[in-house]
Amino acid sequence: MKKLIAGNWKMNGLASSLAEIEALKGVTGEAACDIVVCPPFTLIEKAVARTEGSAIAVGAQDCHAQASGAYTGDVSAEMLAEIGARFVILGHSERRSAYREMDAAVAGKAVAVHRAGLASIICVGETREERDEGRAIDVVRAQLEASIPNTATSTNTTIAYEPVWAIGTGLVPTLEQIEEMHSSIRQMLKERMGGDGQHVRILYGGSVKAQNAKAIFGVSNVDGALVGGASLKASEFTGIILAAV
Ligand code: PEP
Repeated sequence: MKKLIAGNWKMNGLASSLAEIEALKGVTGEAACDIVVCPPFTLIEKAVARTEGSAIAVGAQDCHAQASGAYTGDVSAEMLAEIGARFVILGHSERRSAYREMDAAVAGKAVAVHRAGLASIICVGETREERDEGRAIDVVRAQLEASIPNTATSTNTTIAYEPVWAIGTGLVPTLEQIEEMHSSIRQMLKERMGGDGQHVRILYGGSVKAQNAKAIFGVSNVDGALVGGASLKASEFTGIILAAV
């Protein structure tokens, strides 16, 4: 399966940061993977213009489940599609914890993303406490079951396994722990989606850097990465992209 390397800029970046996306254009010829960068809403349209004709796709970090209406401050999937976004990250742990986004809300947003013709990157992952209690696999399975809508296919859906305790901390699970979780996610996807579940990409996310990417990409059922901090600088993100061969 062709790997997908996705960058999540979170609430970082002004127009001057677009040079970091543009610098990736030089690397896409060498890259054997799909690349998507998800800047803040304010930069999406500009990023699309600056990457036109390249292999870099642009995505968003969230959207509302409705197409339009009285939802002050929100942005719909249709609005994102209109400005050229192709992916939307949903259910990131920062949104699950800071905005109490529950699985059902994530599923509703994923339906909206699919309705608008975009692809969802649905994030799941356990807390440190849940892992220490031996519940990581069960927690992630329950999140997946309730966060993936019936509109999901291998074309419009990617799963990102991101242990909450590994995001932005420099901590990374062992390769055995990643393998165990990704294999369990694969199993669940096949149960849920039949043969198509075999083709859904499962990304690992949480402190991926150029230096640890190669080893992580060698783990079975790891089909790419969702990268936070290390996606902000083209030099570091390029190292991750080139590790995905
Ligand atoms: C993320 O925010 O999705 C993430 C994985 O962050 P980081 O790579 O900085 O750990």
